[in-house]
Amino acid sequence: MSRLVVVSNRLPSGSTPSGGLVVALQDALADGGLWVGNSNKLTDTPADRLTRHEGGKFTRMSFDLTEEEQRDFYLGYSNSVLWPLCHDRVDLMELLPQYLESYRAVNKRIAKMIARELQPGDRIWVQDYHFLSLGHELRQLGVTQPIGFFLHIPFPGPNAFAALSHGQEVCRWIAAFDLFGLQARRDVSACLQVFRTAKGAELLLNGRMKLEDKIVQVASFPIAIDPEEFARTARNAPTAGLDDAAATIIGVDRLDYSKGLPQRFRAYGHLLDAHPELSGQVALLQIAPPTREAVKAYQDIRDELEQLSGHINGAHATLDWTPIRYIHRSVPRERLAGLYRGARVGLVTPLADGMNLVAKEYVAAQDADDPGVLILSKFAGAAEQLFNGALIVNPHDIAEMAEAMNQALNMPLGERRERHQSMRRVLLDKDVAWWREQFLTALSASWQSSQPQMDPA
Ligand code: UDP
Repeated sequence: MSRLVVVSNRLPSGSTPSGGLVVALQDALADGGLWVGNSNKLTDTPADRLTRHEGGKFTRMSFDLTEEEQRDFYLGYSNSVLWPLCHDRVDLMELLPQYLESYRAVNKRIAKMIARELQPGDRIWVQDYHFLSLGHELRQLGVTQPIGFFLHIPFPGPNAFAALSHGQEVCRWIAAFDLFGLQARRDVSACLQVFRTAKGAELLLNGRMKLEDKIVQVASFPIAIDPEEFARTARNAPTAGLDDAAATIIGVDRLDYSKGLPQRFRAYGHLLDAHPELSGQVALLQIAPPTREAVKAYQDIRDELEQLSGHINGAHATLDWTPIRYIHRSVPRERLAGLYRGARVGLVTPLADGMNLVAKEYVAAQDADDPGVLILSKFAGAAEQLFNGALIVNPHDIAEMAEAMNQALNMPLGERRERHQSMRRVLLDKDVAWWREQFLTALSASWQSSQPQMDPA
């Protein structure tokens, strides 16, 4: 078996993992795999070797960033250029030349350190938008092993992409990978359209794209969860924290402008205005842990939400009922599982989202005999898989979202069960092991097909 080398911004901890990418990949890393990630320690002078960490079931190695790199590579190019670009917010992009320079330089430095650790049969799997140019840098160093990439966030359409003045270079980065994995079919279609605009690019058959001498396979691999494990966690989790007297609508999102939180709060306000009979009967529990607070757009969204929740509570609260509980703190996954299970409605309404795992977790956590209802934005990657069971909404349409909440709260048991069953089947059929295997199999195939053919002597 060849060794798997994973690169991601977050380095897993040495303790038993729960949830997320680590659980998804740990089986594939069990045979002496290597995970490379950010140490989250700032340094004055970055080392030229990765630092090895003890503990855990696979080898973990990290790199440090300088304060300047944290500002320009991480907060800058990654989170103030690529993140807004990929989430349809080009208006929030900060195109500063030092951001791009730092992104190139950091990826180049990390590539050098990784190249020193590589063994001949390795397969390299790069995760997410912080490392788009890593494959290109590894190839520049002469690395010939398979290199795959998975983008966890949406791929921008050609219009948004045109806002990058160095789009041609980004296409060259993408073409350096053997496999470019995306969350949803809509992302594959956007990526092919963008490539069509690149100078000298050729679209080949079956999602393969050629630029200069490089051929990359583009395909979708919807990321998934382990639904059985999550259901177990939910069954054993406490539900304390839910309002017993009212039907709970739950939202769980990092406090990010892509999650559509102001629209969601307005829709809930609209629901209470339109249905006064719901007074005291329904409660919105919104968990929104802080994230990237050093970026101004994130401070703005926080202020907006505090104002909105204050306003809605002020207008509708009674002496013994608070319509919105807004928690600006992270809640452990085990606690979340119990809250999902106890909530009558799961509200997942991003304006743009790669997949949205909360949607899948909410479905997995439900009691199949008496399940809650998922309301899901058509802009979440998950909508391509869960459209049969969820109430699909347009998160820009406040009245439509309010009506969906009302429909969910009044949905008969038979319909709730049917919808839940259809979504559960998808989760069981395409779980996280399926996701990992699909990607790794496709990576081997596309790498193989790019190898010079042996002469059948
Ligand atoms: N999450 C958590 N605690 C919180 C909020 C979120 O553990 O307080 C977890 C949540 O269960 C999910 C992940 O963080 O697994 C969020 O993933 P998602 O794809 O929904 O959104 P992202 O944050 O990646 O944009």
